[in-house]
Amino acid sequence: MPAPSLADQDIRCSFCSKPKTEVDKMVAGPGVHICNECVGLCNEILAAQPVETPEIPWAESMTDEQILELLPRIATVAAQVEDNLRVWVQRLRDRGVTWARIGAALGMTRQSAWERFSGDE
Ligand SMILES: [Zn+2]
Repeated sequence: MPAPSLADQDIRCSFCSKPKTEVDKMVAGPGVHICNECVGLCNEILAAQPVETPEIPWAESMTDEQILELLPRIATVAAQVEDNLRVWVQRLRDRGVTWARIGAALGMTRQSAWERFSGDE
């Protein structure tokens, strides 16, 4: 039985939420992914000359409509992170790691870890 993982076509960039199928490359981190386009944007920001940052936090300058458009993208990334967490917990369970140890790693009780992640187990 292969190790559990997210289906390739379901992987989305955790920053822009584009699916893997719409970008050239996707880099994986612990529970998150970043596409080549976002890495490119990050490189531009890092290479830019320091500029004075506005006093107003960027979220406060957004309109209600912009924030509403952002919500489903944040929800998609949150669901992907949750799916990844389940995959990693399952890997530990496949290795025979106890619910007590998994719970301790996540700062929860054995019972809470089991209730959240056991599924059909
Ligand atoms: Zn991206």
